[in-house]
Formats: sequence, structure tokens, C-alpha cells
Amino acid sequence: MANLYDILAGGFPVDRTKPAFLLIDGSAISYAELEAGAAQIAGHLVASGVAPGDRVGLQAEKSVEAVMIYLGVLKAGAVFLPLNSAYTRAEVDYFIGDAAPRVFVTDAQAFRAEADAADPLLKTAERADHHLASLIYTSGTTGRSKGAMLSHGNLAANARALHEVWGFTPDDVLLHALPIFHVHGLFVALHCAFLSGAPMVWLTKFDDAQVMAGLARSTVMMGVPTFYTRLLANPNFTREKAAHMRLFICGSAPLLESTFAEFEERAGMRILERYGMSEAVIITSNPLGGARIAGSVGYPLPGVELRIGGGDDTGVIEIRGPSVFSAYWRMPEKTAEEFTADGFFITGDVGRQDPDGRVWISGRAKDLIISGGYNVYPKEIELVLDALPGVTESAVIGAPHPDFGEGVVAVVIGAGFGPGDEAAMIAACRRQLAAYKAPKRIIFVDDLPRNAMGKVRKNLLRDRYTDLFKAG
Ligand code: AMP
Repeated sequence: MANLYDILAGGFPVDRTKPAFLLIDGSAISYAELEAGAAQIAGHLVASGVAPGDRVGLQAEKSVEAVMIYLGVLKAGAVFLPLNSAYTRAEVDYFIGDAAPRVFVTDAQAFRAEADAADPLLKTAERADHHLASLIYTSGTTGRSKGAMLSHGNLAANARALHEVWGFTPDDVLLHALPIFHVHGLFVALHCAFLSGAPMVWLTKFDDAQVMAGLARSTVMMGVPTFYTRLLANPNFTREKAAHMRLFICGSAPLLESTFAEFEERAGMRILERYGMSEAVIITSNPLGGARIAGSVGYPLPGVELRIGGGDDTGVIEIRGPSVFSAYWRMPEKTAEEFTADGFFITGDVGRQDPDGRVWISGRAKDLIISGGYNVYPKEIELVLDALPGVTESAVIGAPHPDFGEGVVAVVIGAGFGPGDEAAMIAACRRQLAAYKAPKRIIFVDDLPRNAMGKVRKNLLRDRYTDLFKAG
């Protein structure tokens, strides 16, 4: 029973002058500065009336100050609510209405500076395992986003398991190029570094030249499949560039077997693929020591029970374990629907499991699109398109994309569309939606394929447009 902050800080190096962040300009930010920043922010939050359990939202660009805010929120016993920096005003309004944060930060640097006027909070607020640490919104297929409630116990259990199975030590240096509003960059990456007191090569976004330079002084990289395809697309990425590395980890979307094979050939190392989601952080991982197999996401982490629902070999993956969230924020019915009577969470991912426990994911029960590592829910885009002048109906699908994994494609029925309308419609989507959600292509058709019940058969559309991004 402890506040996650104290568990993470328990891994900080004894010599706090050691670097926590190695920045691209050659400077560093020490663990002492990180700790002091978190204490100032916690003190400022408490002085502003934030009580344990209150939500504190953050929508800002990736920065060291944003990490200090995350840690300060934990230290004060409050609940961290990170939001994608690409969300539009209308999207943010929904999250604010639903989560009712006491404080909402949009400028991390200014907030950090303000906090200097407060007395630092020296004693971490007491929290028990079941107390809420973070609220992570995962858009729902029905259009309403759900807030996955992750407790101090959930996050601590996952952090400890990953630190162990991936063999982190204080000698590691983690290359951090992921966004920190999502569980991958926020919990998986930061917690592994903190628990081992290791420094991070800190990149505010993925840039292949910067990543290649960073690899020379790193030992571990965590990435989404797009990171790996971008590295491979750069002819300068050679075996020498990866020579200092011990481990490349990949997840958040399926890694193509071709990427795995090409990476092994070019870098001389096998990518370690793992599987996770906002509701449980990491669920399975290929082994550090044993076989890393292309197309498989490996074995359930220690303490995770995993089974295939439905009685067939292949079915929806169900999980139970210490990192699995307890409920969706203020949605008791939705929560009840997604758990079985014996307490397993129904992930919505379809897969199978070998007799020795190894897991293979074959698809998604829902029509989620993953583009560049970000989840895109077709329904949300369809609603925007359908409201545009002249549009009768739309169907949004993902088509294989060499760079993004999947590219968002909208198939639209409407009257009188001509040249120029595609670009105008994409622009209209971009005004209302985060850029990564906007369709990359819009195709105008006279009708959509449907089943007997009138439902659009998206699998046929996916087949029809499977080569859309291949040419050129
Ligand atoms: P999120 O909640 O945004 O982290 O998205 C979680 C979803 O990403 C999962 O339910 C899976 O559908 C997908 N996912 C994550 N990792 C993998 C992986 N290694 N292979 C296939 N799908 C994955």
C-alpha cells in the first residue's frame, strides 16, 4: 500500500545529481531537479485547493515540465488526466465536462514557473492500492469516450512487472520519442526508466535523424510500428547505428512480420513485440531471453490471467490481473458489459493462445483503425462527414499504409461531387477533428455494400481499397 509516486521515487538513483533527461541540445535535467519540480507542483496544487482524488487535466506539448506535473499530481494524491495535444476545443470540452477536473493545465512551462511561489510538498499524500491515480480516455465505438480508471496499485504492479521482465538496470538509457498523453509513453516508458533510476534520451517527437543520433547513447527504445518503418525507410539506418542498443520494444498496434524481418536483417536484432491497452497497460510480452516470434505478442505478464472467450480456438481475449482497471468513469453499465461474471475484462481484441501460453492477435472485434499508433474510431469520423453538405452517408475504414500502418479512408455517398471536393472535405474534417483522425483519402461512390440488415459490410470495403496507399 503506497502512493505510486513513492514507489517510482524509490527507484531514483541514490545520487540524485544523475541525469533523468538527456536533451538534444546536450544539456541534462537531473533526478534532483525532477524531484524538486514535482514537489513544487504538488505544493502548488495543494495550495490551490486540490484534494486527494480531485482530477488534474493536462493538454500540452511533450516536455520535462509535463512529466513534473504528472509526478506532482501523483504526489499530491490527485488523479492525472492527460489529453492528446491534437484534440480540438470541442473534443476537450467533452473530457472536461465528463471528468470535471479541478485544475486544467494547457501550458506546462508556465504552470511549472507559477509553482515556484508555493511551498514544496515534502510528504507524499497517502494513497492505498485501490485509490485512483489516473483517468485515461479511450474513445468508444459508440462515439462516447470512456475514462479507464487506473489505480495506484494497477500502475505499480505493471511497472514492477515490466521492469523485471525487460531486465532494466541503472545502466540502461531509454530512448523516449513517444507522446506522453498515452499509456505507452506515459506509464510504460517513464515508469521503467524511473524504477531503474535510468536516464532518458528525451525527444519531443519522432524524428528519424534525431532517433538515430540518440541510439548511439541509448540501450533501449520503445516505439510504435511506425517508428520502425520510418527507421527502415532511411538508408542511413544501419547495423552500426543500433550497435549500442540491447533492446527494441514495439507495441500499440500490430507489427507487420515484414517489418520484423527487415529490421532483423538491417539492425541484426529482433524487435520485442508486446501487447497492451489503456485499460490494463501491458498485458503480454515476447520474452527477453527466449524466442521473439514475428506475429506473436508473447506471453501474459506475471500475475496476468488470459483466456480466449467463446469456446473456440480463436476468440475475444479476456484478461484478469493486478494491472487491469476497475471501471469506466461514471459508466457502471458500460463497465458491467465489458467484464465477465468472474471478473475478466473483455478486451475486444481477437486472438488465440498456444498450449504453452503464447498469444497471437488476429484482429479487432470492433472496427478500430490504428493509424501511426493512434486509435481512430470510424464512427466519430462518419458523424462529422455525414453532417457535411451533400453527404448522404459515409463509411470509414482503415487501409494498409506503408508509413502509418493503416490510413484512414472515407467512402462517401452523396450528390454532385466533383474535382476538388475531396481536398475540401478533408480540410473540413481537419477543422473539427485531431489531424490524425481526418481521412487521408475520400472516395465518392453511388452506393455502399450492405448485408441483409442494411449494415455496411466494411470488410468488403477494406478488401476493395486494400491497395489504395500502395501505388506511388
Ligand atoms: P490503446 O488503449 O490506445 O492503448 O489501444 C489498445 C489497442 O491497441 C488494443 O486493444 C489492441 O487492439 C491494439 N494493440 C496494442 N498492442 C498491439 C499489438 N502488439 N498487436 C496488435 N494490436 C495491438
